[in-house]
Parts: sequence; C-alpha cells; structure tokens
Amino acid sequence: MTKAVCFQCGHLKFGSFLACDECQAKPKTDDELIVSLAMSDHYFDQETMESMGEYIREHGHPPHLDPESEKTFRRNFEEVKASGALDQLFQDNEGV
Ligand SMILES: [Zn+2]
Repeated sequence: MTKAVCFQCGHLKFGSFLACDECQAKPKTDDELIVSLAMSDHYFDQETMESMGEYIREHGHPPHLDPESEKTFRRNFEEVKASGALDQLFQDNEGV
C-alpha cells in the first residue's frame, strides 16, 4: 500500500487520501488532496518523506511545491479525479 506523509501533522501514514491514524485528518480540498498525492512513495523515497514530515511538524504546513512539480501533480490529480477513483474512495469512507 502507498505510504504518504500526513499533510497536517507530518506522520507517515498509509494511503495518500485516507485519514491519518495519528491526527485523523483526511484531505478534502483539491490543494490538500494534491499535496497528499505528491507526498507519497510514488514520488519520493522514505528519507525525503521523513524530512517533509519534519518540515510540517516545524512549520505547521506542508512544504510548497515548486510550480513545475505542482503542475505535474495537479495534472496527475485531475486524472485520478476523472477516473472516478476518488468518488469511490469517499463513498467507501462515509460513515466510518
Ligand atoms: Zn496526521
């Protein structure tokens, strides 16, 4: 399963779009979803993700993506969204 950094507390959690098992935060807005998609082991190694987590704990927000990467991640995110995978995910999570 995908390992990802929690956008809110920097904890390493499983699944970019799933609720954090540490702070229970779940990405909802496009920006939160994009940053959660970006900060995963699809794109970064464990060491980088840990330093992203540290950044979040220190600053209280995720590191800013450079405009080029942000464009790439936004495009990937639009593809995921268009595939309907997100709808399914949010349906599955309802009432949990
Ligand atoms: Zn968290």
